[in-house]
Amino acid sequence: MHPTLPKLADTDFPSIRRNKLETLQVNLGYLCNQSCLHCHVNAGPTRKELMDKATVDQVFEFIDRQGITTLDLTGGAPEMNPHFQYVVEQASQRGLSVIDRCNLTILEEPGYEYLYEFLASNNVQIVASLPCYSSENVDAQRGNGVFDKSIAALKKLNALGYGKGLDLSLVYNPQGTQLPPQQTTLELEYKEHLLDHFGIVFSRLLTITNMPIKRFGSTLISKGQFDDYMDVLKAAYRPVNIDQLMCKGLLSVDWQGYVYDCDFNQMLDLPAGISDKKKHISDCLEIDFKQQAITIADHCYGCTAGSGSSCGGALT
Ligand code: SF4
Ligand code: SF4
Repeated sequence: MHPTLPKLADTDFPSIRRNKLETLQVNLGYLCNQSCLHCHVNAGPTRKELMDKATVDQVFEFIDRQGITTLDLTGGAPEMNPHFQYVVEQASQRGLSVIDRCNLTILEEPGYEYLYEFLASNNVQIVASLPCYSSENVDAQRGNGVFDKSIAALKKLNALGYGKGLDLSLVYNPQGTQLPPQQTTLELEYKEHLLDHFGIVFSRLLTITNMPIKRFGSTLISKGQFDDYMDVLKAAYRPVNIDQLMCKGLLSVDWQGYVYDCDFNQMLDLPAGISDKKKHISDCLEIDFKQQAITIADHCYGCTAGSGSSCGGALT
């Protein structure tokens, strides 16, 4: 794998500072039942990194001290962490809004069938990847059989009330080096197609720009397309997106409990702007994150290109 940080570190991206910290995005580990081409985590079935229970408890101590209102769970497949149920139950007890970034196919894996009822009964919001509504494109990007399993999972989620009251967002990301199309237009297409062909409903579509880091960034370097892709992102820079950047209200935590300004910075091992060294969440209990500097590099242009991009979809 080609490292991308050397090509990103020297940046002219504008400096940014955090507003109120509201969301903690926690990476529960890199274990995943899939190994998608665009994965910025390099997750897969052989990864061993998983957050342990002691770190989970430190995360909740931080949540309590900082008044965090949203817990955003990611991975890998976060559900494969052995403490996943404990995490969700602790969050529910505190009245937090909980997001599960779910790849859908995990719900169909043996031993994980309980998740359907469990997620619904804890009112967990599901954000699920479905990078296209055609089986060929989804299987090409995410692996053979992924589309059919995803459709089966979505039907079961609908039957439990997801997309009809319980929150179910689908995530689209482009197959290659183009920016995502307009989110609202694509959402209409997705809604029509999934309803007409499969009887599936969902709450909203989130379009996410591919980040030039990790597996996707390395592939760009291998194909000699990295610089061209950066040119695309920079040419589409829109300052209006700056105020909406997700890092302005979010902090990211890795499976060992170290904090970063966002999930992408975590993948690049860029320490949070509060310090020039990596800081553990247990050492951040007293820090006021408001107005703290955010660590930037050229990949930040992936968040400001076009309509903007974040883990919550387009920005503007
Ligand atoms: S499902 Fe998500 S975490 Fe797993 S390999 Fe694919 S993109 Fe990565
Ligand atoms: S990659 Fe995006 S979310 Fe992360 S620090 Fe840069 S602008 Fe913020």
